[in-house]
Amino acid sequence: METNFSKEQLKDKDNKSSEKIFRKCVHCGFCNATCPTYQLLGDELDGPRGRIYLIKDMLENNKPANEKIVKHIDRCLSCYSCMTTCPSGVNYMHLIDHGRNHIEKTYKRPFGERLIRNFLSNVLSKSFNFRVIVILVKFVKPFRFFFPKKIKEMIALMPRKFPKKTLPNMEIYRAQKKKKPVARVALLTGCVQKVISPQINEATIRLLNRHNIEVVVPKGIDCCGSLNHHLGKSYLAHKAFKKNISIWHEEYLKNGLDAIISNTSGCGTTLKDYGFIFRSDNNLKIKAKKISELTKDISEYLDENVKLNFIKNKENNKEYKIAYHSACSMQHGQKVHDVPINLIKKTGNQVFDIPDGHLCCGSAGTYNLLQNDIAKKLLKNKISNIEKIKPQFITTGNIGCITQIANGTKIPILHTVEIIDWYTGGPKPEVLMKL
Ligand code: SF4
Ligand code: SF4
Repeated sequence: METNFSKEQLKDKDNKSSEKIFRKCVHCGFCNATCPTYQLLGDELDGPRGRIYLIKDMLENNKPANEKIVKHIDRCLSCYSCMTTCPSGVNYMHLIDHGRNHIEKTYKRPFGERLIRNFLSNVLSKSFNFRVIVILVKFVKPFRFFFPKKIKEMIALMPRKFPKKTLPNMEIYRAQKKKKPVARVALLTGCVQKVISPQINEATIRLLNRHNIEVVVPKGIDCCGSLNHHLGKSYLAHKAFKKNISIWHEEYLKNGLDAIISNTSGCGTTLKDYGFIFRSDNNLKIKAKKISELTKDISEYLDENVKLNFIKNKENNKEYKIAYHSACSMQHGQKVHDVPINLIKKTGNQVFDIPDGHLCCGSAGTYNLLQNDIAKKLLKNKISNIEKIKPQFITTGNIGCITQIANGTKIPILHTVEIIDWYTGGPKPEVLMKL
């Protein structure tokens, strides 16, 4: 794609990087074929190629965003299916991030939208605030019919209760064996995940400790920053990124870290991008790159570093038919697809890919809250594809997908790490108790 940025414009690091990406695009449109929003809406501007044109036009001509551009960019799920399909290696993720930041700087959204986006930014990225809101929502739920449509839909998506925690909050979870641990890793426990599904972090910690790995959850790390990053709120996102980089890097230097584990693929994708985000920051670029290099999805870490000790007992000796939902951030963002499937297969169960598995379930961070109509259609399609397999349960590696899919089906769904924990001596997951 031809570009026309001026020399002055290219002094800006983001313009410079985006220009290189635009130049790789050959307009072929292959990406449209696998874009969920293009498939649903059939409008060129709701596909990756159209969005790339919109972003290029804004940046190159130094144009403020307008209502039309914002509508089509907001409809993008950031699922990155287009990146997997693109034969030219166009990094759409970096373009859409740049486009969203430009929108946030140059476009004043209507009051209601600003209110909702600021609310999500302040509530979801802070686990304490989120917990308070979930409690408040319980009381207003019976009166939700009096609220505007958007608020009503958000209330409907809020969890009804907090599951009980079985592990205390600690900074260091020691390896179970008395001898020296074989490795030491940091775990990102996540902002929303630790509130609504603490069992995922607990299964991760138990599993690692049981395999003689020490787990550290450094104080001060709450959100990975991706929530604000995808809302285009770069100031808030960068504040979280910088804090995380400095805390993890200090831990790495002082006490040693073999890896930073993410068990939420949406967060893992952003952590692996810290190096790019701070590529021009002389104070942080080396540290940020190190954090990205250390980051592993839990499935990758287990596959590459841990000899899993599978144990058969009377609780787990049945053979199940499992549907594996490959989260977009996992398969398209991190290019991790076969690894979790192969890990689950080691438990002796049958694992099936979901038909049209490259398409998003509609969760996509805050997307199901902000673009509820599209998200609902995507969820309906996902559930109908899952049902074709007739699985006894579903598994995936991302809390957003777990919450979204659970809203559309009665088939139990759990995180992949919970299965591995169970088959290596951990308790049977609560959600599977009736099976
Ligand atoms: S990220 Fe997903 S929704 Fe956005 S343009 Fe690419 S394929 Fe379409
Ligand atoms: S597939 Fe890649 S090269 Fe082709 S239009 Fe899409 S982004 Fe451009």
